[in-house]
Amino acid sequence: MPEPGVLSRSGRRLSTYVIRACAIALAIENVTSGKGGPFGAVIVREGKIVGEGTNTVTAGNDPTAHGEVNAIRAACKSLGTFSLAGCELYTSCEPCPMCLAAAYWAHIRAIYYGANAADAAKAGFDDAFLYDEIRKEHAARTVPSTQLLRDEAWTSFKVWIEAPNKIEY
Ligand SMILES: [Zn+2]
Repeated sequence: MPEPGVLSRSGRRLSTYVIRACAIALAIENVTSGKGGPFGAVIVREGKIVGEGTNTVTAGNDPTAHGEVNAIRAACKSLGTFSLAGCELYTSCEPCPMCLAAAYWAHIRAIYYGANAADAAKAGFDDAFLYDEIRKEHAARTVPSTQLLRDEAWTSFKVWIEAPNKIEY
């Protein structure tokens, strides 16, 4: 198999197999190099890699630094945009709820994943717990979530709705 780096620099159209292999190779390299968890992700636009990411939670002291989020950040930086409309996300493992939501916020058009949530649970990464939490009523969740100052908080939306020069996303 060709080196992923050679392919990402060439700019030619990549097969989905090769791109998936890149995400998996990033995940493996992330562990063997001691940088973090076994997760890698690649963002592709028109057959070209525009961003790569690995899990850097422990290396960067950032619990949100999952491979997919890091790849989204890298792609947005390299493209100079906050929208990845028309891009695809290739990830070594099925995204957790945070990364799935991040992909939606970024307007990613398709997600391709290798391992699934059950595989991740076997390795000690239990995303199923988070998906279960989302389905529960607020009061029944492990982390209590309580609404406060609703009327006062609406003011922030009122200001947004009335702002003349806002950049919508
Ligand atoms: Zn995640």
